[in-house]
This record gives sequence, C-alpha cells and structure tokens, in this order.
Amino acid sequence: MEASSVTRRMLACADVRDWAWWRLPWVIKIYVGAVPVISVALICYALSQTTWHAADMLKFLLLLCCGLVSVAATPRIVYLKSGMVRDFITAWVLPVAILLPPVYAMLMPIPLYVLTICLAGKGVVYRRVFSAMGISLAYGAAALLFRVFPASFAGGHIGVGTHALTWTVAVAACEIIGGRGNHFLIVGAMKLSDPSVRLRELDLNREALQGDFAEFDLGILITIVVAVNPVLAVFAVPTVLLARRFIMHAQLVAQSRIDTKTGLLNASTWENEATLELSRAVRTRTPLSIALLDIDHFKVVNDTYGHLVGDKVLREISDVLRSHLRGYDVPGRFGGEEFVLLLPQAREVEAIAVAERLRAHIAAMSIPVDDADPSGPCVTLTISVGVASLDGVRRELPDMLAAADAALYYAKETGRNKTHVITATAQVSSA
Ligand code: GH3
Ligand code: MG
Ligand code: MG
Repeated sequence: MEASSVTRRMLACADVRDWAWWRLPWVIKIYVGAVPVISVALICYALSQTTWHAADMLKFLLLLCCGLVSVAATPRIVYLKSGMVRDFITAWVLPVAILLPPVYAMLMPIPLYVLTICLAGKGVVYRRVFSAMGISLAYGAAALLFRVFPASFAGGHIGVGTHALTWTVAVAACEIIGGRGNHFLIVGAMKLSDPSVRLRELDLNREALQGDFAEFDLGILITIVVAVNPVLAVFAVPTVLLARRFIMHAQLVAQSRIDTKTGLLNASTWENEATLELSRAVRTRTPLSIALLDIDHFKVVNDTYGHLVGDKVLREISDVLRSHLRGYDVPGRFGGEEFVLLLPQAREVEAIAVAERLRAHIAAMSIPVDDADPSGPCVTLTISVGVASLDGVRRELPDMLAAADAALYYAKETGRNKTHVITATAQVSSA
C-alpha cells in the first residue's frame, strides 16, 4: 500500500459531491444514510453521559490495538469480494460492549473501518460507513441489554462457579442481539438494492453457518478472557486470524466452483460434473442429454441499457433455469451469455421438451430495467437452444458439446428463438 494512494483515497472521500451515495435510488439512500446519522446522534448523547476512567481507556486501547492488528492482517481479497464480509471485527467489539460503558462499543468500529477503507483501496466507501455504524448501533444495544441483567446473574465481574456460567449466558444473549442486529441491518440494505437476493440461500448454507458460529464463539471467548485479565486479549489475536483463514479457505473453495455473477456452476466445474454423470449414464445404459442456450442479440441489451442491466438479465435467466429444472438437472454458465444444461435421464424428446419450455418461458418474460420502476422500460428477449443426446455414436462429453454447439449454430442461422437437435445420424432437426 503506497502512502500516496492512501492520501489520494482520503482526498477522494473528502469530496462530498462525488460520493457514490448520491447516485443511489432514494429508498436505499435514506436507509443507508439513516443508520450513520442515528448512530452518530446516539454516540454524541452517550459521550455526554459517560464518566471517563483511565483504566477503561487503557482497556479500550488494548482491545482496539488487537482489533487493528487483526484487520491489518486480513488478506485484501476478503474485502474485495462483494456481499457480506467475514472480517471478525465484532469479536473485538463484544468484549468492549460488555466490559466498558456503551459509548466505547459505539466508537470502536470507527477506527477499525477507517483502517479497512485504507487497506482495501477498492469498494464503495458508503458501504463501509454503513457497516461501521451498523455495528455501532447493534453493539450499543447489546451493551445496554447487558446492563439490564441483575448483578446476581451478570454484572461487572465474571466471578466464579455458577455466576461465571450465568454471566457467560448473558454475554451470549448480548452477542445474539449485536450480531443478529448488525446482520439484519446489512441484509435490509442488500434486499433493498436487489430484491431478488435470496436470504435463505445466503444464510442457510454450511459456510455461512460455520462463519456465524465462529464469530459468535470467538466473541464470547475473548470476552471471558478479557474479563479475567485484559492483557490476555493479546493471545486471542492469532486465534482470530486462524479462524478467519479457515473460513476464508472454505469460502474460496466454494467460490471457485461457482460463477459469481449468476450463482450457477462455472464452466470447468460443470464439465467435471457432466463428465462423471456421462460416464455413469454410459455404464448403466441410461439416457442423458445436454443443451446449450445462447441469448439472442444480447449485445443489443448491453448497448441499449448498459452492462449492469445486462448482468441483471443474466441473473434473471439463471433464476429461470434453476427454478424450471428438475432437482438432478445441472445448469451452468458456459461463458458470456451462454448457458449449458446437463439433463440426466432425459431422452432426446424429453430434452427438447425441457428446452422448449424454457425457451417459451423466457420469450414471454418482461424484465424491468429498473426494479424501483416496474412500469418503466422492460427488456424482452429470446434464446436459441442446441440439444444433443447420448446415443451409440456420441459417448464423450466433447462430442456431445460439439453436437449441441452445431445444433445451436443452426438455430441461430435459421432465425433464432428456436430449439434444434442433432440426431444420431448427424441430421439437424428443429422443435
Ligand atoms: P447472437 O444472437 O448471435 O448470440 O448475438 P449476441 O449479441 O447475443 O452475441 P454476441 O456474441 O455478438 O455478443 C455477446 C455479448 O454478450 C457481448 C458481450 O459484451 C456480452 N456479455 C458477455 N458476458 C457478459 C456479462 O457477464 N455481462 C454483460 N452485461 N454482458 C456480457
Ligand atoms: Mg448471444
Ligand atoms: Mg454467444
């Protein structure tokens, strides 16, 4: 990271008129703007209500340093990926919320996110401001909740025996409030900017649940350690770094299989799965077909409405493929505006029926250019499809793909918005 690039970045942030936030649709602008404004107002109020003690400040500085080291040691790739960032920052905010007056927890995310902005060097600043102030609000609420528990259950000291247990239960309840509160604020923003985001898919998968549990667990463990002796927080830094590396590895493995734009399998993963399925079909003498889909005149969509609308169209088509196929069919993104389907157990006639159903459905779709304005301009489009089925001649994936590609080429040549198939005798026929 060059000093000059950080300075340039800071200067760019200072130019208020140039903030990407101004260009957001107004509902998102209000939502994303309201969280920091409310947070800053509450921080000002909390500052006026806090009694300052040197011991608290020292404890805060120590935990802040641990958090800064943990952010600085995060590989840049974690911040460059879109969607939710698993940076484990809240594992350092929870002990502050429990062991210090609420204002400290509300202030803590600010320096951590300033460092994140400097290090990431890419990404939209308003998102990081939103994330920081969302944590500030959620963990401010967690800090207040902790003070509601009676001293016999929680209180300022962890104690021993049963009290240590009930104290930990109270900390866990606060982490649920802080962690989930922050999560719902972020999910709200994601849902407003893209209503097609599926929260279940986002939250209820193994990696997301593992990450949630690791954050929950680490936050509570660090809080217990710091409650025993604040200096012990230093020993938690390597643990946080290791946990993040582990979670990142799982994420990278999952990401390497998926086309990030559409969520479908990418071409190489699809080919691996198709090769396995094809050899199984040959061995067990069961039918199998593949279909290549290409959007007609897609370039016109990009040229007319821009690449972002083009991307949205690609996602809509992917959603249609996912929702209209059987559970064991495997759709993939082959590249650009081309998709590929693996249809196990489907004979030629069934594969043509599937392709025709998809083609008719997509031809009838009308995709709004702007989700906030459903009555505004819409994109309509068609697809051409080439189908190839397993037969006595074609038994290898490259042969099947070549046949489907030839059928697709023929569909394009003869007017588009069609399904074609190349039969075993290498003759082209249309649906
Ligand atoms: P045809 O009917 O012959 O298939 O015409 P076409 O315009 O669909 O095909 P062409 O190959 O001329 O153009 C494909 C376009 O797809 C050009 C390229 O910019 C666009 N494209 C490829 N990948 C993406 C992507 O990920 N997002 C967007 N928005 N556009 C993409
Ligand atoms: Mg095309
Ligand atoms: Mg193409």
